[in-house]
Amino acid sequence: MSGKGDAGSGKRDRLVAESASSHEPFAFPSAAARVPRFIDSHCHLADPAFDSDREEVIARARESGAEAIVCIGESLDAAERARRLSDAHPGWLHWTAGVHPHDAAAFEPTRDLDAIRRCIACGAVAVGECGLDYHYDNSPRASQRAAFAAQLELAAEVDRPVVVHTRDAADDTRDMMRDAAAHGVRGVLHCFTGPRELAEAAVDVGWHVSFSGIVTFRRWDDVELLRAIPDDRLLVESDAPYLAPVPHRGHRNEPGWVAHTVARLADARGTSADTVAARTARNARTLFGLPAPAPRPGEPREPE
Ligand SMILES: [Zn+2]
Ligand SMILES: [Zn+2]
Repeated sequence: MSGKGDAGSGKRDRLVAESASSHEPFAFPSAAARVPRFIDSHCHLADPAFDSDREEVIARARESGAEAIVCIGESLDAAERARRLSDAHPGWLHWTAGVHPHDAAAFEPTRDLDAIRRCIACGAVAVGECGLDYHYDNSPRASQRAAFAAQLELAAEVDRPVVVHTRDAADDTRDMMRDAAAHGVRGVLHCFTGPRELAEAAVDVGWHVSFSGIVTFRRWDDVELLRAIPDDRLLVESDAPYLAPVPHRGHRNEPGWVAHTVARLADARGTSADTVAARTARNARTLFGLPAPAPRPGEPREPE
């Protein structure tokens, strides 16, 4: 690393220092170890952040063990890009369509629900991401609730799962999730960070909980939450390009690095990375209705 006086090195130094000071309380498998196969259940791979090298990112994800990726359409434009990307990687890259709570103020029910319906008819595997974000409040809360409720209703109508973003909105998320579940809607609380009561409410109504690279951060101390989700409700995700896990913090995230999140969860849950990867992959296939992967030669069967 060059000296601090060099132009542009300050940010790099800070990133490196941050990584170096982020102790990993688990042993990440060496590069020589066989990589566990996982499914990245939530990745914004259609984001412009990947425009310059998207196919290389995808190639690295495959090498790192990704057996499928769910590419999130967090807006109708993003969904269209995700659809095209999915067409280029059939059976491996799946996509969703919805309107993010940040954009709820511009949600127009008739127009947007029709568009999401068309996406589902074209093969989108889920509605979302949608939900509630009272942390940023980029849209008025009443608009967020209206857009979320409409998409939950649509999920019931088209019988597809829903991908839910929730931040600082536990009470309303819980109430709306329970109401949707009572109407047969299944879903996942993505990039989950708490509170534990909301995770338990999700599990109670048959929903899934997905963890991102946040759980590898040094400041993450809720190991109990990582243990609280039953094996059959657990998912993993990158949420790339955001939230790169340790030891890549501060960089653009990519789906191949989900392996670090898998390792963290395995450590917390007292099991192997292979087990967490296989189990979460199976859960993602079940929730989103994804096809079974082609077996790799010599690979052990996933645990029943
Ligand atoms: Zn989100
Ligand atoms: Zn997202």
